[in-house]
Amino acid sequence: MKTFNRAERLAKLPPYLFKEIDRKKEEVMARGVDIIDLGVGDPDLPTPAHIIDALKRAVEDPTNHRYPSYSGMKLFRQTVAKWYGERFGVGLDPASEVVILIGSKEGIAHFPLAFINPGDTVLVPTPAYPVYHIATLFAGGQSFFMPLLETNGFLPDLDAIPGDVADRAKVMFINYPNNPTSAVADTTFFDRVVEFAKTHEVIICHDAAYTEMAFDGFRPPSFLEAKGAKDVGLEFHSLSKTYNMTGWRIGFAVGNQEAIQGLGAVKSNIDSGAFQAIQLAGIEAITGDQSCVEEMRQIYARRRDLMVQGLREIGLELIPPKATFYLWVRVPEGYTSASLATRLLEEAGLVVTPGNGFGEPGEGYIRIALTQNRQRLAEALERLKTMNL
Ligand SMILES: *Cc1c(COP(=O)(O)O)cnc(C)c1O
Repeated sequence: MKTFNRAERLAKLPPYLFKEIDRKKEEVMARGVDIIDLGVGDPDLPTPAHIIDALKRAVEDPTNHRYPSYSGMKLFRQTVAKWYGERFGVGLDPASEVVILIGSKEGIAHFPLAFINPGDTVLVPTPAYPVYHIATLFAGGQSFFMPLLETNGFLPDLDAIPGDVADRAKVMFINYPNNPTSAVADTTFFDRVVEFAKTHEVIICHDAAYTEMAFDGFRPPSFLEAKGAKDVGLEFHSLSKTYNMTGWRIGFAVGNQEAIQGLGAVKSNIDSGAFQAIQLAGIEAITGDQSCVEEMRQIYARRRDLMVQGLREIGLELIPPKATFYLWVRVPEGYTSASLATRLLEEAGLVVTPGNGFGEPGEGYIRIALTQNRQRLAEALERLKTMNL
């Protein structure tokens, strides 16, 4: 039989570092252990009812059953532009500076196909959401990794990027509030990124998936709030985390017109837009009652407080997050990320994500997702207390 040799782009994929922990999880589950999964960044709460109702109404309407427009319904793009104005004070032209996405992951993954030629350099943070590097590989590009270190507030040190690399680079990915470190950035940092982009002619891709998931009154800024940002980049956004809509697959990209149009040109040759009924539900999410978002923030803030206090009581160190539903916890003496994650799973039935799985500088940390209710989190803390870490 002819062998199905995979294309080099798949052969070049980095090793999947969560394989070992996935295998152990199966093993522990098979033993009948009551597992508490703090691994996945997927909200445990349902989509708010008024959004579901909007989908139900829209799905009954045959005009929504046909191919949608590639870039998104006009009303969806107008809604996004209006929201950017109100939330961030950023003006956007709905016709040319907004494109709908089938989840922001889709847009991030396709973006390098529009601007990266084989051999081109992309500046990619590490540890990070894996899609930035993999999308770069799929486009034939090369990642230059920017380490996110605690000593630098988990921001990339732009001055540490060698001049020739900076000049060669075509695209830079950044993400604040950040997954996995939960760090936040201010507009001063974004200003420096704009300056860097202008000096070195780099397109900035800011992943803003968590701007609405922030606590204690803190409202994370958009990259596009920085002066001149729209000259150099775009921002990826998502309804997934804000409205518990990860399964619905809806997001959008906004910003520089050429960047948006380039992404749109790739997309129009791959997908045929997002289901209109889901777009109409998305419009309801953005324009409807926002008390569900405030409730979501309060739920995660309470979970955060419970866990930060509990983890500190047993001697674990972490910076309490201002945003995101992740805790980036330092691994105690005598462990690696993997050995701690393995011990937590085998002895306490707790699934956490070893930090090195997001990139080498993540070694020495584990990521805990606050995607279980308080009762389960309290149970997780009880189990941790008996472990003598
Ligand atoms: C969850 C997440 C997203 C959102 O992905 P969608 O495809 O919109 O569901 C994007 N970026 C990061 C860093 C995330 O953690």
